[in-house]
Amino acid sequence: MSFEQFQFIAQINTNISNCGYEHPTPIQEKAIPEVMSGKDILGLAQTGTGKTAAFALPVIQRLSKGPRGKVCVLVLAPTRELAEQINTSFKELAAGTGLRSIAVYGGVGKKPQLDAFRRGVEILVACPGRLLDHLNNHNLKLNKVETLILDEADQMFDMGFVPDIRRILKHLPKKRQTLLFSATMPADIRKLADETLTNPQEIRIKLEQPLDLITQAIYPVSKRQKTALLLHLLKEEPTEGSTLIFTRTKYGAKNLAKKLAYAGFSVSALQGNMSQNQRQNALSGFRDGKFKMLVATDIAARGIDVSRVAQVVNFDLPSTAEAYTHRIGRTGRAERSGRAISFMCYDDQVMVKAIERLQKKTIERITVDGFAMEETGELQTKQTGRPRKQNQRPRNKAGSHRPGKQQKRQAGNTKKSPNNPKRSSNIFGLGQKGD
Ligand code: AMP
Repeated sequence: MSFEQFQFIAQINTNISNCGYEHPTPIQEKAIPEVMSGKDILGLAQTGTGKTAAFALPVIQRLSKGPRGKVCVLVLAPTRELAEQINTSFKELAAGTGLRSIAVYGGVGKKPQLDAFRRGVEILVACPGRLLDHLNNHNLKLNKVETLILDEADQMFDMGFVPDIRRILKHLPKKRQTLLFSATMPADIRKLADETLTNPQEIRIKLEQPLDLITQAIYPVSKRQKTALLLHLLKEEPTEGSTLIFTRTKYGAKNLAKKLAYAGFSVSALQGNMSQNQRQNALSGFRDGKFKMLVATDIAARGIDVSRVAQVVNFDLPSTAEAYTHRIGRTGRAERSGRAISFMCYDDQVMVKAIERLQKKTIERITVDGFAMEETGELQTKQTGRPRKQNQRPRNKAGSHRPGKQQKRQAGNTKKSPNNPKRSSNIFGLGQKGD
């Protein structure tokens, strides 16, 4: 299948080939004709599938013939990085058409945004909070919006944006086209979709799809040895291209980046506490190859589009199997192969099982000499000293969650008492609060 079949105007076809796209991705094949025909869309797809161009191309085609100077397309996105990324895609795909787009988000001055509104934009990509702020101050009108796109709706829900979205909806014409994209479809997103979409065409791009291109491996390791194992792997098995490393907490991201930098790696961290400038520097440095590694939390990394990611490292596993799929989907993109490695401590075994259940396959375990997983989980929490609830730790029946026999134990790796409340809960001795 080729892009020719969509009969885009010549300028759009030129832009597509300037972006290096040769064939439409599956979501583009399915969504472009539906969006062009004016239908509402409920798209179940994650970052990495080409969904941005799937909604941007048909929208640009329609706007290329339409009036100028009014916001005709509104895209709502959860993070500033994703808003910037979508805006960049619109700019590239609409180059030479005279259409103007802008990304609007908080944490930066309002003046450039107000100036752009005054000059006139047709495509507005915004994070809900700042957009609502502008609407409340009557800085712009959305009464001419023809198409509303809600991108990464599940993430917007997780970040508590749904009330803001409902307020924004009141500023839009009732008669419009609405496209909603989400990586997952929990009940609350289904409800939002029911409220906002009319007879939507449902498009599902299977979650497992990008995984075919990714080599996955699990490294059993104790919590206190994770940094040492990471340094060992980065030195002994260097990868061509960049490495994206995930930690659970922003403090973890910062500390790990410091340790990697100290060990001589070119690395940056991306976490919620940074100013917009620092985030942009970290991201663009990673994109253009100045930093070979980026350490990030899930929220900070949401929507990052870095097509050269050769390797994803789950230094800490995420809290859901779907989030694992989403994380590793950042490698193996656009017909490139990639590698995803995950560290598994004793308490992570339940999550690894959930990940394998979702993928319907067992992921290869690799044991490195001198590194081994703990033999027991954390029965006591650091703060209260009280035992955890039964369902918060792995079962220990019949050795089902025990490390395999082939795993070598490090000399002098003393078995810690499960009743010892002094055991630190993470290697940095820092809190577990996310961004
Ligand atoms: P997205 O899912 O929109 O974040 O896109 C993921 C990556 O795929 C981005 O780097 C896009 O530039 C790239 N991409 C989008 N469409 C195509 C295509 N048809 N062929 C090759 N790469 C694409």
